[in-house]
Amino acid sequence: MAKKSNNKMVEAITSMDEDFAKWYTDICKKAELVEYTSVKGCMVIRPYGYAIWENIQKDLDARFKALGHENVCMPMFIPESLLNKEKDHVEGFAPEVAWVTHGGSEKLEERLCVRPTSETLFCEHYANIVHSYRDLPKLYNQWVSVVRWEKTTRPFLRSREFLWQEGHTIHATAEEAIAETEQMLNVYADFCEQSLAMPVVKGKKTESDKFAGAESTYAIEALMHDGKALQAGTSHYFGDGFAKAFDIQFTNKDNQKQYPHQTSWGVTTRLIGAVIMTHGDDSGLVLPPAVAPVQVVIVPIAQFKEGVLDEAKKLYEKLKACGVRVKLDDSDNSPGWKFAEYEMKGVPVRVEIGPKDIENCQCVVAARYNGEKTTVSLENELETFKDTVIEMLEKTIPAGMYEKALANRTKRTYRCHSMEEITEALEKNGDGFVEAMWCGDEACEDKIKEVTGVGSRCIPFHQENLGDKCVCCGKEAKCMVLWGKAY
Ligand SMILES: [Zn+2]
Repeated sequence: MAKKSNNKMVEAITSMDEDFAKWYTDICKKAELVEYTSVKGCMVIRPYGYAIWENIQKDLDARFKALGHENVCMPMFIPESLLNKEKDHVEGFAPEVAWVTHGGSEKLEERLCVRPTSETLFCEHYANIVHSYRDLPKLYNQWVSVVRWEKTTRPFLRSREFLWQEGHTIHATAEEAIAETEQMLNVYADFCEQSLAMPVVKGKKTESDKFAGAESTYAIEALMHDGKALQAGTSHYFGDGFAKAFDIQFTNKDNQKQYPHQTSWGVTTRLIGAVIMTHGDDSGLVLPPAVAPVQVVIVPIAQFKEGVLDEAKKLYEKLKACGVRVKLDDSDNSPGWKFAEYEMKGVPVRVEIGPKDIENCQCVVAARYNGEKTTVSLENELETFKDTVIEMLEKTIPAGMYEKALANRTKRTYRCHSMEEITEALEKNGDGFVEAMWCGDEACEDKIKEVTGVGSRCIPFHQENLGDKCVCCGKEAKCMVLWGKAY
């Protein structure tokens, strides 16, 4: 049995260099993250995949709450008249909205859309509860699913229903709201870099790419292993546009009526896709310890021999007592099968212990991301062993994974001074980020995409002057833009 499973698993891996898209879906299935359903464009997130999401959620939720945000829960339906209140917003979302027209067999008087995002519901609520400057700010967030009727779907990256969090805040002044928008973008960036070991570029979206109804949209952009860009999180500043459309007013300290300023910000289960495509390799998933459902797996070698399982259990208990998410696999599958299985599942640390190790009072510890093995002493009441593993989970592995991802991004970031250089760099080195100057004209933005294939990802906060001229029209450049092919 064990042998058969092993063969099956090895066969199933498509090499990432051969076919990246196939490699990606293989991992989603083989690491037991998702399964398809009879509902087109929707997926089951299986326990192992959902546990990753729960860890992401726990981490982010703590960061939100530390900054004073509170969780709420809005209805999942939006009446058509409510969705229609803000013109840009409805235009942006209408094409991908799903409608409820009947309740049982009865036709509804007014259609209800299944929320694609909840700005309108939050606005209606704020209009009811915000009256005075004393009611501000409101710093709300919700963890829910939303529906967008996408035509082409891929697990985690694009599905018709997906899980996310949406923060919605309302403030007395524009300055406060802008500070909130920037603060939350920083929270996302820190989370991605610290907990997901994924480097991101922070920046502002161009006019054509901003959120429907927003005054400005900020985003973090990550580069995947294949050189394609992935938007990992967004934060929007709304000004008082929504407040005016929904007639939200408050009385300020001078007893005058005033419109408040709003923000919204979100990340989705897409982050799991980003983790897969940033860190994964031909043996499967590679998970950052902070979000790995199992951080350490202990694999006993020749476990039927006397004393092996007892020693393995001691290691297990030692780590468990320190709060490490540890698993002891004492199933009758072969060690080889277990190695392949936990490599596929991306478990950050594997501990091997067999009769010879026990004789020498040691065990072998292997890191998933680079395959490095170390021999660790079991003396000192397992303190050395515990310290070694914790150091790996908290420091060396996240740092090593981050460096590896950053090296890929650096290798695939091309500085270009003309359209020809862009085309040449992409042809020669493959997809990646392009840094190039832009005049701010939408026509040039479109033309660059049409000619070279890369679209604007964001205007990075960290600007560098690569020349005075727009690479497209040759007129005076306004800023450096990060370009790329997007997921
Ligand atoms: Zn131009």
